[in-house]
Amino acid sequence: MNCPECDGEIRVPDDAIEGEIVTCPDCGASYELVKSNDRFDIKPAQAVGEDWGE
Ligand SMILES: [Zn+2]
Repeated sequence: MNCPECDGEIRVPDDAIEGEIVTCPDCGASYELVKSNDRFDIKPAQAVGEDWGE
């Protein structure tokens, strides 16, 4: 899949599990794997601690 930030390629390991954090090798952005139907999708990783709201 591709990084939403920079369109770089993010590799998801074959043994990846839901909730695993993957990092874009190009821009360093972190994403959390979420299961979507039969494949993984990514969402921006939660920052540590409470969320800051919108
Ligand atoms: Zn990126």
